[in-house]
Amino acid sequence: MKTIFEPFRIKTVEPIRITTRDERKKLLEKAHHNVFLLKSDDVLIDLLTDSGTSAMSTDQWSALMRGDESYAGSPSFFRFEAAVRDLMPFNHIIPTHQGRAAEAILFSILGGHGKTIPSNTHFDTTRSNIENSGASADDLVIAEGNDPACYHPFKGNIDTERLECYLKEKSDTTPCIMLTITNNAGGGQPVSLANIKAVSDLAKKYNKPFIIDGCRFAENAYFIKLREEGYANTDVKDIVRKIFSLADGMTISAKKDAFANIGGWLALNDDELAEKARTRLIQTEGFPTYGGLAGRDLEAIAQGLREIVDENYLAYRIRTNEYLGERLQALGFPIVRPTGGHAVFVDARSWLSHIPPLNYPGQALTAALYETGGIRACEIGTVMFGRKPDGSEEPAAMDLVRLAMPRRVYTQSHVDYIVEVFEELAKNKSNLCGFRITEEASAMRHFTAKFTKLT
Ligand SMILES: *Cc1c(COP(=O)(O)O)cnc(C)c1O
Repeated sequence: MKTIFEPFRIKTVEPIRITTRDERKKLLEKAHHNVFLLKSDDVLIDLLTDSGTSAMSTDQWSALMRGDESYAGSPSFFRFEAAVRDLMPFNHIIPTHQGRAAEAILFSILGGHGKTIPSNTHFDTTRSNIENSGASADDLVIAEGNDPACYHPFKGNIDTERLECYLKEKSDTTPCIMLTITNNAGGGQPVSLANIKAVSDLAKKYNKPFIIDGCRFAENAYFIKLREEGYANTDVKDIVRKIFSLADGMTISAKKDAFANIGGWLALNDDELAEKARTRLIQTEGFPTYGGLAGRDLEAIAQGLREIVDENYLAYRIRTNEYLGERLQALGFPIVRPTGGHAVFVDARSWLSHIPPLNYPGQALTAALYETGGIRACEIGTVMFGRKPDGSEEPAAMDLVRLAMPRRVYTQSHVDYIVEVFEELAKNKSNLCGFRITEEASAMRHFTAKFTKLT
């Protein structure tokens, strides 16, 4: 079948306000050409992030009503804990208000000056929590993972040879090994089960806890089913269980593959570590049976976890991004290959080769997507990474534009609309021009920077 079948029907709708190109031109000028400064009501298709933007199901909405807000020992916590443990068999499951809170707690215990923490690629909040503790966050993804055009089925894999050298050299300073599945910063690329197993073996050999950042565990497991030899007939649920049985702990944001709008957790097998984590949790998040969450949020997560491993949903999810990637490539847009689980990344530097990196080709494409079609995307390039701590500026390694797909929110006709907008852009490519920053913050400038258009 060619049609991407959305395995749900729509009961409640959120109207999208249709705007004209002239209106959008004015709105963008008012927002100083920064799409983060737009009001979301003025956006037609919002691809800024897939975090916390999922559509909840009828079962999740009814679960909210069952939420028990008792301070301690709420039945909602025990339903949450059972749902997590059904997929991720850890001894201690500690709820937090987001993924970064789980990371902050973990690295308040394992981090510290002189420590070294390897991963395939640390996500930016993970890196920031590690560095904030005084430790160094080291990325050891395979070489293919840094090459946007090169095809590899498991581009998120860690380089296990480099990891072993790292462990030999830095055994004394390394408190744990991490692995991000899928590798968000590297384009939502999956990690193979063979690679996860190899990391687990190294962790045992060097006696280090192995911690998985599991934000997109279901998408990763589905890629294993599709691409790794020997798993075509294994249930995604069993692949998920296998993945986590190889680890000693996990951090996760429930805003991704738990279909929730908020939440996260830290899970650990080690009793002593878990005891320290709960003590810290009480200081920063709350009592161990609610973390930073309401009882109803714990219920939404528990139900979301039962739904995310549905293979019909995952087929729709993975195929939607793949389809968008195929159509954009057919129009001549270079993209990060293969398309990842949650997003399509367009290589704006290569497509807009007439715009130098310091005039922000990613920003040019992002602004044009909004003006032309009301689509909001996210620049991941020189605007985001180009400013150095001393205030000087350098081109980032790549100028990408990320089209992140919220879960269960858009249909194939929305995707066809996105493709049409790109088609329109392709006709006017030579008219697109670069930008200059007129105002910026000293860190994380992409959120608030103001731009003027160079003509
Ligand atoms: C989103 C994300 C986080 C942080 O989670 P928050 O809930 O946003 O704090 C950590 N790691 C990865 C891979 C993520 O995608």
